Amino acid sequence: MKQTLLFVPTLRDNPKEAEVNSHRILLRGGYVRQLAAGIYTYLPLAYRIIKKIENIIREELDKIGCSELLMPAMQPRDIWEESGRWQDYGKELVRLKDRHDRDFCLGPTHEEVITTVIRDYLTTYKRFPLALYQIQTKFRDEFRPRYGLMRGREFIMKDLYTFHTEDGDLDHWYNEVRKAYQRIFNRCGLNYRIVSADSGNIGGKSSEEFVGLCDIGEDTIVYSDESDFACNKELCDLPEGAPSPDGKGKILHARGIEVGHIFKLGTKYSLPMKAIFVDYEQKQKPIIMGCYGIGISRVLMAILEQHADENKVVWPQEVTPFQIHILPLDKEGTPAFELAQELYEKLNKDYEVLFDDRNERPGVKFNDADLIGINHRIIVGKKAAEGIFEYERLADGFKQDISDLNELHELLKALRMFGDFKTGRQ
Ligand code: ATP
Ligand code: MG
Repeated sequence: MKQTLLFVPTLRDNPKEAEVNSHRILLRGGYVRQLAAGIYTYLPLAYRIIKKIENIIREELDKIGCSELLMPAMQPRDIWEESGRWQDYGKELVRLKDRHDRDFCLGPTHEEVITTVIRDYLTTYKRFPLALYQIQTKFRDEFRPRYGLMRGREFIMKDLYTFHTEDGDLDHWYNEVRKAYQRIFNRCGLNYRIVSADSGNIGGKSSEEFVGLCDIGEDTIVYSDESDFACNKELCDLPEGAPSPDGKGKILHARGIEVGHIFKLGTKYSLPMKAIFVDYEQKQKPIIMGCYGIGISRVLMAILEQHADENKVVWPQEVTPFQIHILPLDKEGTPAFELAQELYEKLNKDYEVLFDDRNERPGVKFNDADLIGINHRIIVGKKAAEGIFEYERLADGFKQDISDLNELHELLKALRMFGDFKTGRQ
């Protein structure tokens, strides 16, 4: 992609409305644009990252037997009356009326809709289990939208629902989804912990949160430096340095933000909404359900918090907007630009390459490139006349002069073997 054709409206100065680093970078780097409080346009750079996160989720969920569908955002009041949530949900629910004065809401989550979708089909034990998910815009009129995409009023969520005839099967699926979530967040390059949680508004009998560690997080978690033990500070208030309750390691505290949530819902929705099946003894029973969310736009924000300093981002390999950034340090018609263009045309066949073909000074190009955050960078400058260019890796500052393309291919091939460039082209 030529950078002149990509819409990346970077800013020179720090935007006043941004209170935290990730939000500043989002605005300064031309990733998003705010329309109203908590409501954003995802510009091309952010949307490429969002699509990569979505595709990682799709790959991992499809692998365990889930299938994707898409439900409506606009939902009629009657199904919310059936579940009892029209009253319970409160002011976060965005309510509206159609032209005939009938009540609707914009979905903050989809338990009601999915239950109406499956209840006429899942009437016999023979059709179980089933796992359905969607990736969709959700609406919640949050009291205090803030930190950019962290707490939006309109945001992108993946929501998965599973259906079972007995608790044992729900437990099995819950564990499979839990493992898939671990793979998803690892691939996203997130440092996270799994903490058990109370189940809040959605209800049910068992739930865990995936919490991305970052200083601007709203929760404090208590975790072991050596094992998987982690817990919300509200639930277990161990001091830092205390031995971990599982006997492994010492307790540390960290702030974190919930990026994913998995629930065993049980029959919370199937009972009031009469989603009933007939078991192998011809007995009528309510369907047992699980539900599992990931806040995709919030994940982007959490990754940014963990992988950026004040002026520079290094996106993790699997979610990077592009894989290689080529920066010629001179304008069109010079040896530097021509060599850069030649490298772009060749590398673009195998990698996602961003080519900074703008007529800008090197300082501007470097500043913008640091905000765009592509780990693998090729700089074509003064030595271009001798056919020499520089490869630089942002993550560790490694640099190397390169004089022919084969040498670069060898280098990139070696990186691929270490797990870089996994997603390939979009
Ligand atoms: P929170 O406690 O942060 O309000 P929640 O418990 O209301 O989250 P869920 O109903 O479990 O969230 O929604 C599933 C996922 O959607 C959450 O794990 C989170 O990642 C994401 N999410 C929830 N609310 C928002 C929001 N306002 N903006 C962006 N992402 C959100
Ligand atoms: Mg909430």
